[in-house]
Amino acid sequence: KIRVRYAPSPTGHLHIGNARTALFNYLFARSQKGTFVIRIEDTDTKRNIADGERSQLDNLKWLGMDWDEGPDKPGDFGPYRQSERKEIYLPLIQELVDKDLAYESYKTEDELEADRDAQKARNEMPHYEYEYAGMSDEEIAAKIAESKAAGLTPVIRFRVPANKKYEFNDIVKGDITFDSNTIGGDFVIQKRDGMPTYNFAVVVDDHLMEITHVLRGDDHIANTPKQLMIYEAFGWDAPIFGHMTLIINTETGKKLSKRDENVLQFIEQYRELGYLPEAMVNFITLLGWSPVGESEIFSRQELVKMFDPKRLSKSPASFDGKKLEWINNQYIKTADEDKVMDLALRQLIQDGKIEADPSAERIEWARKLISLYKQQMSYTGQITEMAEVFLSEPPVLDDEAKAELAVETAPTVLKEFAERIKAIDIFDAVEIQATIKSIQKDTKIKGRQLYMPIRIATTREMHGPELPASIELLGREKALAHLNKTLE
Ligand code: GLU
Repeated sequence: KIRVRYAPSPTGHLHIGNARTALFNYLFARSQKGTFVIRIEDTDTKRNIADGERSQLDNLKWLGMDWDEGPDKPGDFGPYRQSERKEIYLPLIQELVDKDLAYESYKTEDELEADRDAQKARNEMPHYEYEYAGMSDEEIAAKIAESKAAGLTPVIRFRVPANKKYEFNDIVKGDITFDSNTIGGDFVIQKRDGMPTYNFAVVVDDHLMEITHVLRGDDHIANTPKQLMIYEAFGWDAPIFGHMTLIINTETGKKLSKRDENVLQFIEQYRELGYLPEAMVNFITLLGWSPVGESEIFSRQELVKMFDPKRLSKSPASFDGKKLEWINNQYIKTADEDKVMDLALRQLIQDGKIEADPSAERIEWARKLISLYKQQMSYTGQITEMAEVFLSEPPVLDDEAKAELAVETAPTVLKEFAERIKAIDIFDAVEIQATIKSIQKDTKIKGRQLYMPIRIATTREMHGPELPASIELLGREKALAHLNKTLE
């Protein structure tokens, strides 16, 4: 039975790349009727941030993922926070020390740095140099005793076997081989603060939690041989690995980096702008995975049915914000009216365009406004900007719009329109449309020459949603004021 996990470190908020890892594991578990586990990897206490775990879990939930076991969902393999599993790790580290597969290391940070500098000068890759080289067991024991007496705290290092090949078959990348001599020497498995390192804890947990498949980002691929060595030392079977390719920013052609401030990369930011979670899931799934066929819009149920890790792509995934906007627009168009309404209304209130406690009448007006723009919005956060003409002072006309108003028949159309809408009984889209038609009938002016001056004079824009509905929303008073301003 398949068991997979998403193992975030609470050192930051939920990033697009993390969300992708979580999602692929989730889809794999659900498509195979397996188990999806969340494990918090919080052993790097200095780097953890206060609401890192909350942000991770909250945003996964927002994206519609659920899990079977996790810090908030007890199961048979807990606890699900590494910081609460110290009693599990420490005896296992001791076991390796007892078998001489690991040892206490007292080299200080300064000594290690001096080693690295010397290595650099010799044009060597940085690596740990064995501090007990050429010593007998007695000499080693004496040196350790001396360091202890001096009050030094050791780290524990894993003894990396020399001249050995570590191979695995990666679901995404195929056969991969590492030479043990190239991984940088004996690595730390327990830090000075007593916490195990990631490479140690991840192996213990994946083993004890009976994880069958590890799908993660390929920034971890260099860790895999170290992890395989630990599996080997304990005589445990390793899970199947799949390392997903990195994500490239389409605009810069570079790796999507958390430091790149020009791209929104955190799920929270999209949530804030009114993106829909279903659209985000759809978009993220296409980052490095492709379905059979041409279609690009899928519901979560469809994705669960279709997901096959064999179709994870070998080439880097391309992050294209424009594509995300397009996908989100597809979802907004067909989304439940109330859902879009809630999000857009929240935005209008946030932007101070509508009072926080609007009257029923005002909500009705907002509802009409939002439904008028529903087809056009890439995300609901755009409503304020799009509906500018209804919400703020009318913008000044640009040259192109002025040129449209310079056609000979425009003044007639505008005067007639202003006169006639004063007389309408019920100022709604139906009556406004009838008024425009009546002008056409009486003046014989039609098409662009009829509609464009009216559109520009009232909405101050050359393009926009349906004209009569827009004028209804503007209201008679504003429509007339805008017309008169244009006629001045
Ligand atoms: N805690 C690791 C990370 O956040 C997870 C690595 C893994 O999945 O093994 O990148």
